[in-house]
Amino acid sequence: MINIPKGTKDVLPQESYKWHYIENKVRGVALDFNIKEIRTPTFECTELFLRGVGDTTDIVNKEMYTFTDKGNRSMTLKPEGTAGVARAFIENGLYANTQPTKMYYITPVFRYERPQAGRLREHHQFGIEYYGSESYMADVEVMMVAKTIFDRLGIKELVLNINSIGCPECRKKYNEALKDYLRVNYDDLCETCKERFEKNPLRILDCKEEKCKAITAKAPVILDYLCDDCKAHHENVLKQLDKLKIPYVVNPHIVRGLDYYTRTVFEFVSTSIGAQGTVCGGGRYNNLVEQVGGKPCPAVGFGMGLERLILTLESLGLSVGEEEVPSLYIATMSEKAKEDIMPFALNLRAHGISTEIDLMDRSFKGQLKFANKIGAKYMLVIGDDELTSNEAKIKDMATGEETPVKLDEIVKFFIKEA
Ligand code: ATP
Ligand code: MG
Repeated sequence: MINIPKGTKDVLPQESYKWHYIENKVRGVALDFNIKEIRTPTFECTELFLRGVGDTTDIVNKEMYTFTDKGNRSMTLKPEGTAGVARAFIENGLYANTQPTKMYYITPVFRYERPQAGRLREHHQFGIEYYGSESYMADVEVMMVAKTIFDRLGIKELVLNINSIGCPECRKKYNEALKDYLRVNYDDLCETCKERFEKNPLRILDCKEEKCKAITAKAPVILDYLCDDCKAHHENVLKQLDKLKIPYVVNPHIVRGLDYYTRTVFEFVSTSIGAQGTVCGGGRYNNLVEQVGGKPCPAVGFGMGLERLILTLESLGLSVGEEEVPSLYIATMSEKAKEDIMPFALNLRAHGISTEIDLMDRSFKGQLKFANKIGAKYMLVIGDDELTSNEAKIKDMATGEETPVKLDEIVKFFIKEA
């Protein structure tokens, strides 16, 4: 018996409806914000992530699924959605379009992490990418896309945590101040944070270890080190959120795990799904396009973990959609009826009426039981008499009520019901 790889999951036929529900919701919201879908390959040249995502990140350092292909090229399964979009934007010259370019994706993401609740080796993200706008309005609209999705799903408890990590200029000054503060407590940091100290001290603020949290609680705050432009941008974002009456928390510990962020960073955090509570994380990345070899182009976006979104809905007792059931089951009472039913069923299906027939050579009684089991909304019983007279009874399975119908008018019956 060969088992599923650790940290991955099957979506079985009886639960795929949850995914359809979520995907339909996010696509609907994207449509309302006039965001168009972009699809990029599942693997890219490893170099793209080294340059784009940043080689001081945990993702690039430890978590990538990298392999050498038969042509001896180093390839990597997407560890996040943004770098591939940036590559596609540059390679296809999307600069040439009228800006902004608003894009979304739904993609599998691969990270070699320690599997636990809400942390998988293959998970799925819905993400959006706004290219070409430097305006704080784009930051706020991006947050509102996430907020709209949560609202439409009925989730009220997610808290918007927001911070600014400034531009490379502000960050240089801040990193020095942070390192001066942390140097005193260096010996008490966890091993990972000791490594981060030189390469990426900002990430220490995001460490989940209690001892590091205790140390960083009193660390200098980056908001005090922002240059005038970054400060004005941040204040404008907050002002607009106030205007929209969106509750938020300014949280100086939000820094995000990827090196490409500049200025705004934010997370929507759940308190109901345990330690891995970040359902959506995003921010602005004005230097990413340049880092992966394009002309400078500002950008802002987010990634939303769909497994964590489903976990949140389930833990809050909210709807995750309903299992799709057929509109009609056709039970047959004779060999002749069974032979004649296929074209009849095909015609219904051609009209968008989900129809099921017997494929198991079940007895008539067995067919009735089956119709109940699969939750068919209606059942039609057809035997020799019905075929000759063109008349049959259609049964509403919920109420038991039976209505006479003409077989050649059955499509009309369903159109009327819908
Ligand atoms: P985390 O806080 O879990 O380390 P991250 O900072 O690595 O998250 P991003 O790279 O911003 O997360 O990814 C965006 C979203 O994707 C996260 O907010 C989360 O909902 C989801 N996500 C990230 N990693 C995983 C994973 N290993 N399994 C399931 N969902 C994940
Ligand atoms: Mg992570």
